[in-house]
Amino acid sequence: MTSHLSDLAAFITASPSAYHAAAEVARRLEAAGYTRQHETEPWQPQGRRFLVRDGAVIAWRAPSTEQPVGFRIVGAHTDSPGFTLKPDPASTAFGWAQAGLEVYGGPLVNSWLDREFGLAGRLITRDGEVRLVSTPAWLRIPQLAPHLDRSVAEQLRLDRQLHLKPITGLGAIDLVAAVAATVGLERDDIDGHDLFAAVTEPPAIIGVAADLFASPRLDNLSSVHAGLVALLASGPGPEVAVLACFDHEEVGSASRSGAQGPLLESVLQRIAASRGWGVDGYQRSLAASSLVSADAGHAIHPNYPQLHDPEHRPVVNAGPLLKVNANQRYATQGPSAALWHRVCRAAGVPTQVFVSNNEVPCGSTIGPLTATRLGIVTVDVGIPLLSMHSARELCGTSDPGQLAAALSAYFEGADHST
Ligand SMILES: [Zn+2]
Repeated sequence: MTSHLSDLAAFITASPSAYHAAAEVARRLEAAGYTRQHETEPWQPQGRRFLVRDGAVIAWRAPSTEQPVGFRIVGAHTDSPGFTLKPDPASTAFGWAQAGLEVYGGPLVNSWLDREFGLAGRLITRDGEVRLVSTPAWLRIPQLAPHLDRSVAEQLRLDRQLHLKPITGLGAIDLVAAVAATVGLERDDIDGHDLFAAVTEPPAIIGVAADLFASPRLDNLSSVHAGLVALLASGPGPEVAVLACFDHEEVGSASRSGAQGPLLESVLQRIAASRGWGVDGYQRSLAASSLVSADAGHAIHPNYPQLHDPEHRPVVNAGPLLKVNANQRYATQGPSAALWHRVCRAAGVPTQVFVSNNEVPCGSTIGPLTATRLGIVTVDVGIPLLSMHSARELCGTSDPGQLAAALSAYFEGADHST
């Protein structure tokens, strides 16, 4: 395994929920000398800072100049589609203990069948303390044997309320109490919880030539990790380097830690204010800024090639995607596409274009949302995947490191000289 890939595997394993991902980013930033900014405290103008809000984290590195300069922003998201634990989840049926789950975003729910998973997220105690928790593989959604319903072999139909309820053991199990006990708390200590299903099987290199990487949460921890590695590895650039990792992208980004909310804008405003740029200086800064929205995209599926555009057929291990959509589901336009090509040339990184088949509606990313809020030139990019939104996705072994190399060149402003 390359060092980038083994580090990505460690990052994904340390990040079973968005809250863990934000905490792991923060931990690595602190180890590299970044200091934490609390939102309720006066803004500190020092060069290398970060802020965590729920499952979102924003880090920035400012040059020493006092004059307004642009922001170079890499945006990504920390959450992945799956399931959350319902508020009062425990039930029993015919001797089995079960847990009520709510579907989060658009997971391929069939990919969670007969797969062991744990719960990961945060507990809020009576005194308001937030505790991150992550359990072993306690849950499984058992698939129905074909002997009991021959039709499942022909067409699998899953009722999301009835058929996706996992078993957690036998008898009566107070699941929230069991989760609380993993961090030495009692059930009565817990006033709130945000707990997500999290696949516990570790990432793995696969394929005859060991050139494929199978892992949970590649969408979108591959981009969060690449952005973080790029921020920490890149040399100083002429502009303010910003890494913005939002939560709730998989459910539309409308939340206080999502890309439709004011989080990034308030951070940029406070950076500008702390440096004395004033209102006009801040607007000049935005006009000179750009944002690279990094989110996993689609490699061509060999079994469904007709669903792709015939002239655009991205493959894995041929470099990150430039994602284009005329209807602005991706924010890329000509000038930002050109920015991306300059960045990739400067970094020596290959890139390939994804555009949808006109009969197949396109997904979206945080790119159009932040472009709409801030008016910043934006490009959408990301590594190509198969099995997007599966419990376990599949990418190539070289693309994640290539994405990090391109983002590092972007932070350094390498495109200025190409
Ligand atoms: Zn995504």
